[in-house]
Amino acid sequence: MSGARPAIFIDRDGTISDEIGYVNHASRFRVFPWSVDAIRLINKSGRLAVMVTNQAGVARGYFPERVVQQVHEGLLETLRAGDARLDGLYYCPHHPQAGEPPYRQDCDCRKPRPGLLTRAAADLGIALERSWVVGDRLGDLQVAWAVGARGALVKTGYGRGELRHHAPSWPRQPDLVAEHVLEAVSRIVHAA
Ligand SMILES: [Mg+2]
Ligand SMILES: [Zn+2]
Repeated sequence: MSGARPAIFIDRDGTISDEIGYVNHASRFRVFPWSVDAIRLINKSGRLAVMVTNQAGVARGYFPERVVQQVHEGLLETLRAGDARLDGLYYCPHHPQAGEPPYRQDCDCRKPRPGLLTRAAADLGIALERSWVVGDRLGDLQVAWAVGARGALVKTGYGRGELRHHAPSWPRQPDLVAEHVLEAVSRIVHAA
């Protein structure tokens, strides 16, 4: 695709914000203090900043979809106040077994399936093979690899446990391991 730009896709829970389990009320959402700097750095690098998050708590009936939207409105406000912005924000509210249709469905967008990334790529003109996904779980790496992008694992959220207990048996290792999203982004941006 000519004119397509690389993106840095960022997972939400455990990567941009503290992993606290299901964020079933907007007041429970806690953005890490370095996340605004990380996203502003993506903005300044000329890459697109796109958040991609599974929110199966909607399908499970733990909270209504509007809670996801309220959390994201709050996040966008926090970013705006810090002179940072997301170019795209995509979430999957589905689960293959839990709840009722339309939320109960074997969708193509629940990570590690690539639907959120391919949708973003079509909407925004993203060169996936020059892009990265930053996240705290294996599924974030797998979704990167599924679309030909690279995957960075952060040690926040589930990341440290993933590395310690599971990564040794993964057939492919993360393309980058970082303490947190700001370190991951700055190494991606400065390596290029
Ligand atoms: Mg996560
Ligand atoms: Zn989905």
